[in-house]
Amino acid sequence: MGSAKKTAKRKTRKASRTNSTGTRRKSVREKPIEKILVANRGEIACRVIKTARALGIKTVAVYSDSDHDAVHVEMADESVHIGPSPANQSYLVIEKIVEAALETGADAVHPGYGFLSENEAFSKALKKAGIRFIGPNVEAIRVMGDKIESKKFAAKAKVNSVPGYLGSIKSTSDALKIAQDIGYPVMIKASAGGGGKGMRIAYSDKDVSQGFESAMSEARSSFGDDRVFIEKYIEEPRHIEIQVLGDKYGNVIYLGERECSIQRRNQKVIEEAPSPFVDKSMRAAMGKQAVALAKAVSYESAGTVEFIVDKDKNFYFLEMNTRLQVEHPVTELVTGLDIVEQMIRVAEGHPLKMKQSDVKIRGWAIESRIYAEDPKRNFLPSIGRLVYYRPPAEISESSRKIRNDTGVEEGSEISLYYDPMIAKLCTYGATRLEAIDLMAEALDQFDIEGINHNIAFLTTVMRQKRFRSGRLTTNYIPEEFPDGFTGAELSLVDRERLAAVAAFVHAYQTWRAKQISGQLASRQPTAKGDWVVQMGEWMQSIGLEWKDDSCHATIRNGGKEKLLRVISNWRPGQRLFLGEINGEAVTVQIRFRANSLIFIHKGAELVVTVRPPFVADLSKLMPKKDLGERS
Ligand code: ADP
Repeated sequence: MGSAKKTAKRKTRKASRTNSTGTRRKSVREKPIEKILVANRGEIACRVIKTARALGIKTVAVYSDSDHDAVHVEMADESVHIGPSPANQSYLVIEKIVEAALETGADAVHPGYGFLSENEAFSKALKKAGIRFIGPNVEAIRVMGDKIESKKFAAKAKVNSVPGYLGSIKSTSDALKIAQDIGYPVMIKASAGGGGKGMRIAYSDKDVSQGFESAMSEARSSFGDDRVFIEKYIEEPRHIEIQVLGDKYGNVIYLGERECSIQRRNQKVIEEAPSPFVDKSMRAAMGKQAVALAKAVSYESAGTVEFIVDKDKNFYFLEMNTRLQVEHPVTELVTGLDIVEQMIRVAEGHPLKMKQSDVKIRGWAIESRIYAEDPKRNFLPSIGRLVYYRPPAEISESSRKIRNDTGVEEGSEISLYYDPMIAKLCTYGATRLEAIDLMAEALDQFDIEGINHNIAFLTTVMRQKRFRSGRLTTNYIPEEFPDGFTGAELSLVDRERLAAVAAFVHAYQTWRAKQISGQLASRQPTAKGDWVVQMGEWMQSIGLEWKDDSCHATIRNGGKEKLLRVISNWRPGQRLFLGEINGEAVTVQIRFRANSLIFIHKGAELVVTVRPPFVADLSKLMPKKDLGERS
């Protein structure tokens, strides 16, 4: 990440460089940025502040009413209150942001993503006020901000586009004719659309007749622009995008691809770099087109060229995002570059430090977006206080990394005003499967309570055979979870292991209780004997014995016995059980309830009780109540 070396001296220098085509460009005065105002909130504001800090640049945060105590405000050197909680009265008000920058003497603004990051008027207003915008030129933002315009541009730059009609369509009869020419299925899209909104698939004339008018009026009400166009719907599509980086001298390089096919309602959920579908020659071909498009708009700064890819590896331009992308960390992990640092350097007038041949993709990185939503209730957004927020420990080894980009901390409030993303958990490994396994493990350790979240869903995907095999399309979620997500099913082996953990935990808890009442002074539990572990409807008899420092749990099924040796430093009260069973690592999150425990493991959540056999036998006679669900 950000090199601290640059903190030393940030002097004004003159740059006169030669660009990749060998032509000498007019020199641009390099002027170090002294103070950056981050026109954003949440994780991305924190992310930008981190790099600015590492570079020795001062930072200014802006905040709305409900972000008064937000992490990004705490992290910045200064902060400015910019208004009420609704974004259209604070983070989206250009004048307020410009005023805050002038007031604090910030000489540059980083917009993050969303909010004003792709707003032409904002970048013009900053220019007028003499403040640098850490992003591309106004013209690139304008052209690429419009789906119809950008596709026309792409066609001129000889970039493959999805077959379709590059103009706004005004009537249902025109729409029908165009759709028939393209051939069904087609996609009706709002030219000004974004964030996965404003598009619908039509499989027949009937769909177009019924949907075209409403697509137009939806576009008008959502984006204030009713221009709608039609393109071919690519079947079994993958979303693969290329990260580009340009400077003020006409140099543009690409930093490989990201696969973002795991989406829900056209919004990304899991991303990775590289893509399991892209080989060397395809990467080079996609990179070449992305660079051609970026050069066509004199792109400087970091940007992303999105492609939709069909099952035969044909790729078609979708759109270009002229800003830092949410999922940029996976590219940083596989290239070793800090993209925010590169954006700042370019804004200062430095030419790119590296050539295309210097960009090396090493290892594999995965990102999981942790959202405040309830996967069991059709992913309904969830708001409230993060009563517990304990992310897994970050790791920074050369071939194993865990990185968590977040803008919250324990006690933070997830409000209804903003994006419900809580964190972006990234893992890195030498191979795809290593990165996936590390992600599954990291997700299992991620402890969030107080709001609903999608961690169980994400960890379930990490363990799915199809995901692990890399057979992805943007329909992955509806195909794999046709009835929604109801929680993961555990295998018998997993349940037996959990039963052993339950016995371990129970023994420690009883031992601790006796210690407190002064009945016992032994160093560790000495508990011995037979127990029945119940998890939901499932019951397991277990024989328990302590030998040296481990708990020997004997799983008894009829006449058969299986010994599980549990070793762990877990102690009563801890919410995270990390241990080994017969030499294999096991992670369980534990919640303590009055007469039971709740175990959270590999995406499953179970109510667990441990009782002596005679009590368990008696309970069988009790009327049944549902133990599987937590209220
Ligand atoms: P937005 O600007 O709203 O993000 P995009 O054009 O980038 O819209 O599309 C978002 C997602 O919609 C893509 O990642 C893809 O899953 C789907 N999509 C868009 N266009 C097509 C298409 N022509 N065929 C199939 N899927 C598409």
